[in-house]
Amino acid sequence: MKVAYSPQLMEESVFRHLNHLERSGMRSDYDEYHSLADPIYELPEDDREEAFAKVNQLFFLEKLGLGDFVLQALEACGLIPKRQRTPQEVTVPEITEGDAGGEASQSVEGSGEGGEEVALADNDDEEGSMEITYEDQARHFEEKIKEIVIKRAINKVDEGSNVLNRVSGLPVIEMRVLASRFANPDEMHELESFLIHEFMHARDMMDPEFDYEDAFIPGNPSIKNLITARFRLLWNIYVDSRLARRKIKSILTKDARYREFDNYYRKIPEEQRRGIFKGLWESEKLTHEELLSMATDLETMISKYIDYTEEFTEEDRDYIHLQGSPCPLCKFPTYNWVDDPESVCDEMVIEAIQIDFVDWESKDGACDRCIEVYELRAGTS
Ligand SMILES: [Zn+2]
Ligand SMILES: [Zn+2]
Repeated sequence: MKVAYSPQLMEESVFRHLNHLERSGMRSDYDEYHSLADPIYELPEDDREEAFAKVNQLFFLEKLGLGDFVLQALEACGLIPKRQRTPQEVTVPEITEGDAGGEASQSVEGSGEGGEEVALADNDDEEGSMEITYEDQARHFEEKIKEIVIKRAINKVDEGSNVLNRVSGLPVIEMRVLASRFANPDEMHELESFLIHEFMHARDMMDPEFDYEDAFIPGNPSIKNLITARFRLLWNIYVDSRLARRKIKSILTKDARYREFDNYYRKIPEEQRRGIFKGLWESEKLTHEELLSMATDLETMISKYIDYTEEFTEEDRDYIHLQGSPCPLCKFPTYNWVDDPESVCDEMVIEAIQIDFVDWESKDGACDRCIEVYELRAGTS
């Protein structure tokens, strides 16, 4: 298996890194680069590109050691076995406090330098045995992967990992990353966290037990987007929780992931919501199909992680109107639910709805626009 870097990524990363060093008063690498690169302009035009590429590669891989961060990320998520290393080398970032902030803003935020580990309510006893299986699996993965290609992303949306040739048996991991993440030596822990998180997705995609499939998600585009967004969230939780149990810092903390989860599922009563998140966070083995069906259907997620009680029955679940679920009247994905119109509207509004929708009950709820329409029709607004 080999790790390859695109010339564009190496060029821009080296350029940004050296400029950053130069601005910080460290000129030696910068000067050395120019002493090698500037004479290239004297060469015939046809030879320049190759000559620049060589210098960039020399700096990216050897002088600046930027490829080391990629290798360490691959080790951390068990895609290649751990190499022997000297103690001075940079190690995988550990969980530190002060890691708040969204996924999107990570590259501009420095993480806290406290180095204090966040106390996580996870079972430490299991860790030893998990490490061992990791090592074995790492060798197994390394043998399977044909190549890992690191390319330059054009923007944040373009960033991420993918596995090509998954089915044919010679998988190629393609990672797209912003060159700006390689610029600042003080932000290398954020780069590493990003790479680890993304490689974990790729690792799952190659793991026969995860059983990744390019699934077709039925429904209209907005339902599809919603299911995809929930699926991503659940998969991100699955990735970050496993890293947290191994004390490896990912892009978001447990609290930050809970806030995301809370955003999507705030209609579930708090006790049950916390119970589901806890169950998800403690899951060591999930499959693609499980994540997708949980993202599609609330019933699956609830019954997997919590028990129904007198305070929270299966019937209560039916009346949870999640953001983006279709309104029973207009069938459009709804973000502004009126959960129990009976409690806020005139009786005549309820009757007007039931003339059109005989089986509809107030607890089924409706979108605010439908309620407005029926209020007008009933002449109550
Ligand atoms: Zn992710
Ligand atoms: Zn509606």
